[in-house]
Amino acid sequence: MSRVYNFSAGPAVLPEEVLKEAADEMLDYRGTGMSVMEMSHRSKVFEDILNEAEQDLKDLMQIPDNYKVLFMQGGAHLQFAAIPMNLMKNRVADYIITGQWAKKAFKEAQIYGKANAIASSEDQTFSYIPDCSDLPISPDADYVYICENNTIYGTKYHTLPNTKGKILVSDVSSCFLSEPVDVSKYGLIYGGVQKNIGPAGMAIVIIRDDLITEDTLPYTPTYMKYKIHADANSLYNTPNTYCIYMCGKVFKWLKKQGGLEAMKARNEEKAAVLYDYLDSSRLFRGTVRKEDRSIMNVPFVTGDKELDAKFVKEAEAAGFVNLKGHRTVGGMRASIYNAMPLEGVKALVEFMKKFEEEN
Ligand SMILES: *Cc1c(COP(=O)(O)O)cnc(C)c1O
Repeated sequence: MSRVYNFSAGPAVLPEEVLKEAADEMLDYRGTGMSVMEMSHRSKVFEDILNEAEQDLKDLMQIPDNYKVLFMQGGAHLQFAAIPMNLMKNRVADYIITGQWAKKAFKEAQIYGKANAIASSEDQTFSYIPDCSDLPISPDADYVYICENNTIYGTKYHTLPNTKGKILVSDVSSCFLSEPVDVSKYGLIYGGVQKNIGPAGMAIVIIRDDLITEDTLPYTPTYMKYKIHADANSLYNTPNTYCIYMCGKVFKWLKKQGGLEAMKARNEEKAAVLYDYLDSSRLFRGTVRKEDRSIMNVPFVTGDKELDAKFVKEAEAAGFVNLKGHRTVGGMRASIYNAMPLEGVKALVEFMKKFEEEN
């Protein structure tokens, strides 16, 4: 068996320890004689898996008691619709457009109400985060929506927008559990789990109690009502049981690493290794305004498309895979999520140095 250094943006690298544990439990989960995949979601054993996962997440993020955690299927995309359907009481919401995912969420919201784009960084290929200190927030906006870490473009909000008292809704798919957050600053935090937590096919929604109401838009599918999932403790229908089990294992792994403060320190150290090199290289350069850089997704280019392609090809042959950048940015992107070890980033930088010398 040989594992590569996987820099995929998602689905992405998972901690090896977690994968090994899951492998050990594949045929017989703790004396039940079956895999978690084969188990009733109503069984006591699975209920314990679910409740423990939820509690561990609450511990890690220090989620206040007046917030609910929901495990929902459909990934982040289903939430692009669920958010307006549940939260648009006045049918007005403000969106800050910092990349493709924010734009997609914005377009989806336009189906249900008046969605306003109140700021955008599209003029410079989303390579920065707009100044959000004094935005034209709509007086009747039900919420202000952001994508906090822009997976494709490699930018991150290092200061949350001034929402002038409106509810903040944040897509944290690609920075989930990468550092501590103050949950109380948000009305709703959500993300698809396949970037930094677990397998694809599920979203985790963290929502303040008072936002969970019966008062949803007409024709909101039952499955998409937050209240249905909150009342049923994420067991309204058959949830993605195996994904919840895997996420639970990752939560335990994160606790063992020292929690989110420790992850932040590790992630910053990893990102610094790569950014320091990019800033000193004569061949490679980062594509993002320095103060807005993400510590999870790092896009970079040589400035020469053919050389970029050559780099991606040679890197892959050397065991550094999924480094090709998104088609809208070109070049390369290294996603260095929680489960990417420091050695992986150091080895990548060594490889880049060698490539720089040879080209
Ligand atoms: C990947 C990603 C999405 C889309 O996730 P799906 O689970 O495929 O719907 C949305 N937002 C961000 C920030 C992402 O990185």
